[in-house]
Amino acid sequence: MAELDQLRTRVRAFLAQEIATGGFTPHCDPWLIGFNREFSLRLGAAGLLGLMLPTQYGGGSGTMADRLIVSEELLAAGAPVTAHWFAERQFAPSVLRHGTSEQKDEWLPRVIRGEICIAVGLSEPDAGSDLAAVRTKAERTDGGWFISGTKIWTSGAHLADAIVVLARISGEKHEGLSQFIVRLPNSDVSIRGINMVSGDRHFNEVHFESTFVPDADVLGEIGQGWKQAMEELAYERVGPERYLSTLPLLQELISGLGENPESSAALGAVLADIRTFRTINQRVIEHLDSGNTAAIDIPLLKTIGTNFEQSTVLTALAIANDPSRTSAISAKAQELLREAQYQAPSFSIRGGTNEVLRGIVSKGLLR
Ligand SMILES: Cc1cc2nc3c(=O)[nH]c(=O)nc-3n(C[C@H](O)[C@H](O)[C@H](O)COP(=O)(O)OP(=O)(O)OC[C@H]3O[C@@H](n4cnc5c(N)ncnc54)[C@H](O)[C@@H]3O)c2cc1C
Repeated sequence: MAELDQLRTRVRAFLAQEIATGGFTPHCDPWLIGFNREFSLRLGAAGLLGLMLPTQYGGGSGTMADRLIVSEELLAAGAPVTAHWFAERQFAPSVLRHGTSEQKDEWLPRVIRGEICIAVGLSEPDAGSDLAAVRTKAERTDGGWFISGTKIWTSGAHLADAIVVLARISGEKHEGLSQFIVRLPNSDVSIRGINMVSGDRHFNEVHFESTFVPDADVLGEIGQGWKQAMEELAYERVGPERYLSTLPLLQELISGLGENPESSAALGAVLADIRTFRTINQRVIEHLDSGNTAAIDIPLLKTIGTNFEQSTVLTALAIANDPSRTSAISAKAQELLREAQYQAPSFSIRGGTNEVLRGIVSKGLLR
């Protein structure tokens, strides 16, 4: 416990230094819209990435609890973490579990240094919630595979160093799927931006035209892609990013709030809920540490967390428009509020929609 407290103090000191030196400006939803490679490199150099990965690769040989502490502090501060987030959160654990020793030697140190951006290639135009319907094909050729098909809603693919593609080699539904690491940029991969409602580009449609992937870049066992993708989704679905995405906005609204009983009560309720989510999350992280990626707490936390996260935007709006306010909200709060309103609809879609996650929870309860 004392070690975790020390770690938290270290992260806070790092963030205070970053803010003091203009290293970043806080944003809402910073794990999806805060792309800043230099920040990720500085975080890596400070020894704050890959704490749960083995020391032999440069990690901390700690647990997911260490990563949780760092993640909480980064998100609460609105730090720009997109550039390394997917690589550290789900790619590194997958390479550690399923990668070859060459893949571990190549990728894990780079994740820990914060120099690698990885995109997640799961969803397709006709396979989102029904992920087992993926149609992207992988066909055998000399020394590797040809990948053909289209992925969609791929966050950060235009900035990524590689995309992990779930593709079908044979069979139907959950059978015959495999994962491939496709390095980017690649002349046989075209990446077309899809703008968010804000006009910003965060995700893409990615088209593979007989893209060659050498055997060395197959991730895990051929035919085990479904199991591997489900494990990665478990890592993706939990974490403070499911209940802290709008905290920078709430913090900005607190400063300058003054004596405002209604708004203070609303904020108090939000903070109490965050405490509850932290407790549940610690339990979920224990599941992941023990290798249990199928625990139903995982989809449960994601569903209730993202509902809560969306409701915090409404709370923030009510505070901003509280008639008993004596002064206008700051320009920074206005900007964060706009940002949060643009991002909020996607909270309950990305990583699996609420409807689908509720289906997984109910099936788990009936088992
Ligand atoms: C901001 C953002 C970032 C994303 N980033 C990535 C990424 O990096 N990589 C990636 O691969 N994907 C990414 N996605 C895609 C995301 O995972 C999918 O959008 C999501 O899984 C839903 O799939 P879909 O959009 O095809 O919706 P559909 O599957 O077409 O669903 C449409 C609606 O029908 C409902 N529905 C579908 N099936 C059922 C059912 N069985 N029971 C009840 N209701 C159902 C859904 O809940 C939804 O409301 C991202 C999405 C967003 C919003």
